[in-house]
Amino acid sequence: MTTAENMKAESENNNTAVRTNFIREIIDEDLKNGKNAGRVHTRFPPEPNGYLHIGHAKSICLNFGIARDYKGFCNLRFDDTNPTKEEVEYVDSIMEDVRWLGFDWDDRLYYASDYFEQLYEFAVKLIKKGKAFVCDLTADQIRETRGTLTEPGKDSPYRDRSVQENLDLFERMRKGEFPNGARTLRAKIDMASPNFNMRDPVMYRILHAEHHRTGNKWCIYPTYDWAHGQSDSIEGITHSICTLEFEIHRPLYDWFLEELEIHHPQQIEFARLNLTYTVMSKRKLLQLVEEGHVSGWDDPRMPTICGLRRRGYTSTAIRNFADRIGVAKREYTQDVTVLEDCLRDDLNKHARRVMAVLRPLKLVVENYPEGKTEELDAVNNPEDPSLGSRKIPFSNVLYIEQDDFRENPPKKYFRLSPGAEVRLRYAYIVKCTGVVKDKKTGEIIEVRCTYDPETKSGSSQSGRKVKGTIHWVSAAHAVHADVYLYDRLFSTEDPSGDNWKDLINPKSLEILKHCKLEPGLAMSKPGDRFQFERLGYFCVDTDSKAEALKFNRTVTLRDTWAKVDKS
Ligand code: ATP
Ligand code: MG
Repeated sequence: MTTAENMKAESENNNTAVRTNFIREIIDEDLKNGKNAGRVHTRFPPEPNGYLHIGHAKSICLNFGIARDYKGFCNLRFDDTNPTKEEVEYVDSIMEDVRWLGFDWDDRLYYASDYFEQLYEFAVKLIKKGKAFVCDLTADQIRETRGTLTEPGKDSPYRDRSVQENLDLFERMRKGEFPNGARTLRAKIDMASPNFNMRDPVMYRILHAEHHRTGNKWCIYPTYDWAHGQSDSIEGITHSICTLEFEIHRPLYDWFLEELEIHHPQQIEFARLNLTYTVMSKRKLLQLVEEGHVSGWDDPRMPTICGLRRRGYTSTAIRNFADRIGVAKREYTQDVTVLEDCLRDDLNKHARRVMAVLRPLKLVVENYPEGKTEELDAVNNPEDPSLGSRKIPFSNVLYIEQDDFRENPPKKYFRLSPGAEVRLRYAYIVKCTGVVKDKKTGEIIEVRCTYDPETKSGSSQSGRKVKGTIHWVSAAHAVHADVYLYDRLFSTEDPSGDNWKDLINPKSLEILKHCKLEPGLAMSKPGDRFQFERLGYFCVDTDSKAEALKFNRTVTLRDTWAKVDKS
């Protein structure tokens, strides 16, 4: 998007009335009660182990949106506590995506790894309070002694080590004296708790691995549960908004903060976004990329933010989607058509209309002088008169869509067929006089017609009406492009089962190599978006070049023309 477009989208975004939801109600209540001295401070805490997807976008809009509307702050915090799966490539892409969505963390960019020293000290504090201990059980042994839903777990034999011994062992863990997995630091809570998370959870594990930011400084790494709440507290977060799977972790979140007696943010859970025809787990998205089912993280069929962007999605459409679907307390699956509708609404307002012929068929206008070119007026966007109009060339040889001609038309076929009349958009009414066929194959290679000079669009005599209007491009002036028609990546609504890869839509991409576009499109740049009249919304692909234009179909029009056609 250009800066001007961005600002326009931004102001529209600000004008939409803010919808309330149960999280905003909690915040309103807190403000009324003077909690947190009237501060509202949220954070978006991605783990840099993959690219962001539309589910994250929802979380970003929620957290940054609340900060914006309550005149508070939202931090961007990388939850980088797992050195083996995280990469700088992901950190960079996450920042790019948050910015593209229209949000800004200003100077509040943080990394959980910045708090490793502080977290270590917090752990020492818990050890001194007798609330944490070094455990020599292996990961397997810890699992085996955890108990079941109906039976309590077993106390670790190391649970009653003295504070002194724990402090000594913990320090030596940090110094690297022990191999991976030899020891852990565990919270001393309650092995009989009905909540598994409270059964002496692991806080630190030994992992001799290089971290993308701290290098080899650390060989003990905090678990998510230990790092997350304390990071929230250190940053002065007031409302720590996360997805429902963390509800069961909340007692532990609270326990750590209470035992440490530090600032205590409130964890609030909401239902993660699930979409029909879409997989959202990072693990599955990574598989799609690594196994070559798609061309990369930014393949236009991916639900990643970079994929949606390359597909032609606008950030306004995604923000409007997040706003429209709201925030739920229970899991559900959102119909993906709502997302597509938000996109159409936005593109309808802003995308320029142009004419493009995807599957060309030559149309020769017999009574139009050969070599003559006429410049006709075409409206850029009927929804937005400020976008003005442009000139398009008309001549005696045109291209029309193969689908817009039938030698033997079905009933109610209002396009071109022998003897029938149709209006050429922004031009004249033409009457089909015959066809030319390939002598060998019998295939129609050319349609012939005559035009009625009295019917020029916009002229005073143009009043004569015909039922159909079709689009066209002048052959001599057309620019050539490859057009990639994308469809949904999965053929079924719910691709969540174990056999999800069998459900990949084999027809999710069709490449058209002979498309003809009106000449103005020669100047288009990657990211530009258009409505190809009667066909849908398209955008210029990132790989497009002036000498080799490449367009992606972003989304079809609401009333799918294709359906009419198959009749
Ligand atoms: P992982 O499976 O690696 O934990 P994740 O999708 O939870 O993946 P995170 O990087 O931990 O990824 O997510 C960052 C934030 O985005 C978290 O606060 C998480 O709750 C939120 N989030 C992730 N997926 C969704 C989703 N589908 N809908 C809404 N929020 C989401
Ligand atoms: Mg997560």
